[in-house]
Amino acid sequence: MSADILNASLVDTAEAIRSKKLSSVEVVRASIARAETLQPVLNCFTQLLAEEALEEAERADAELARGDLRGPLHGVPMAHKDMYYRAGKRTTCGSKIRKDYIADSDSTALKRLLDAGSIYLGGLNMAEFATGPTGHNAHWGDNHNPWNPDYIAGGSSSGTGSSVAARIHFGGLGSDTGGSVRQPASFCGVVGVKPTYGRVSRYGLVAFASSLDQVGVLAHTVADAAALLEVVAGHDPRDSTSVDVRVPDLSERLGEGVDKLVVGVPREYFGEAVEPGVRTRCTVAVDALRAMGCTIRDVSLPHTRYALPAYYVIATGEVSSNLARFDGVRFGVRDEDGASLEEMYGRTRTLGFGREVKRRILLGTYALTAGYYDQYYGRAQKVRSLVAADFGKVFREGVDVLFTPTSPTVAFRLGERIEDPLQMYLADIFTFRFTNRLIDFACIPPTDSP
Ligand code: GLN
Repeated sequence: MSADILNASLVDTAEAIRSKKLSSVEVVRASIARAETLQPVLNCFTQLLAEEALEEAERADAELARGDLRGPLHGVPMAHKDMYYRAGKRTTCGSKIRKDYIADSDSTALKRLLDAGSIYLGGLNMAEFATGPTGHNAHWGDNHNPWNPDYIAGGSSSGTGSSVAARIHFGGLGSDTGGSVRQPASFCGVVGVKPTYGRVSRYGLVAFASSLDQVGVLAHTVADAAALLEVVAGHDPRDSTSVDVRVPDLSERLGEGVDKLVVGVPREYFGEAVEPGVRTRCTVAVDALRAMGCTIRDVSLPHTRYALPAYYVIATGEVSSNLARFDGVRFGVRDEDGASLEEMYGRTRTLGFGREVKRRILLGTYALTAGYYDQYYGRAQKVRSLVAADFGKVFREGVDVLFTPTSPTVAFRLGERIEDPLQMYLADIFTFRFTNRLIDFACIPPTDSP
C-alpha cells in the first residue's frame, strides 16, 4: 500500500488528498516509513523530523475536514536541501560549523511551499556549503545513489536527488550555482530545474556564490516540477536580485507541444569528454524531439571551454567572501581553546570546515587578493560575459532551447576522484552557463524507479 502511495506523482497525490481519497497522515506515514528504512542505506537526511511532520499532517487533515484548503500542496510531504532557513530551527548546510545554528527567519522559497500546504519532512544531505558535485560529506556521511548505493548521488543537492529518486517523498528544493540541481537530478534520474536568475527569491538560502546561486526544484515529472516552480517563483522585496515580473502559468502551458520549437545542439558539448553511453542517449533524445516536430539546428558556443576555469575563480572568490562570516563569533560552532581572538578564529575555521570548503576558501581568497583581483576575478568576469554572449547570439538567431548532456559521464563510484579535485570538477563541465536567460532542465527521467 505505502509503495503505491509513494509511486504516484506530486500533482496526483495533492489531488488525492484534496479530494479525500487519501489522508495526509497516510501519505506522511508512508514517507516516514520509507525514509527510516532507507536512511541506513542512502543517508539522504541530515535531520528527519518524523514527529513534527505527523503532527502537521494531522492538522492538514483536520483543516480539510473543515473545508479549509491551504493551497495546491495541501498535505503533501516534501523534504529539502538543508540550506533553507526556518525560524527557530536548525539549518546545517551540510557543515559542522553550522551544526546547531538556529535561524531567526524563514526562507521565502521554503515558506511559500509550506504556505501552499506542504508538510516538511526534514533537511536533506548535501555537499558542505553546496561546494562539490558528488554528495560526499565528511560531517554527515556520504550520500548514496538509490540506483546503486556504491555510486555517488551527484551534488551538491545530493539528498534531494536521491530521496526523490528513491520515492521517499514527492519533490523538494535544491540550489544550483554551477550545476547542483541539474547534476544530481541527472545522476539519480529525476527532473531538476535551475530557473532563471532572479525568478525565485534567495532570501533565507545560505549563500555560496551570490552572483550565481539560484533556488531550484527536483521532482518526478515535469508537471510536478512546474507545479513546484509556480509556488516558489515570484517577486520578493527581501531579495534585491528577485525580479518583479509576472510568473507564467507553467502547468497550463505543458500541453502546448514542442512542434514549433527550434532546438539548438551546441557542438562544443559533444566533444571527447562525453562518454559513449551518454552520447547515445542524447542522440536518441534528439531523434525523439525531431520526431515530435522540433527543428534541430547545429549551433556553436565557442567560449564553452573557458566556462569551467572562469566558474572556479568566480565561485571560489565569492564563497571565500561569504564564508568569512563564520568566525566563531556570531555564527555556528566556536572553538574555545584559542589563547587569542585570532587563534580562536583559526581553530574554529580549521575544525568547522571540511577539506573541500577550505580548498575553495584558499583559492578564492587568493583570487580576490589586492594585486591579483584584476588578473583573476576581474578577468573571469570578462570571460563570463563572453560565455553569456554566445548564448545571447544563438537565442537571437532564432533558437528557442538548447539541448546538451547534463554531465559528460553517468554517476561514478563513491570515493573515486576524491583525491583529484580537478577530475571531480570536470563532472560539472556542462553546467557552467553564465546566462541569465535560461531555464535549465536536467534530464529525461526513466519511467521505472530504483
Ligand atoms: N559542482 C559545482 C561546484 O562544486 C556546483 C555547485 C553548486 O551548484 N552549488 O562548485
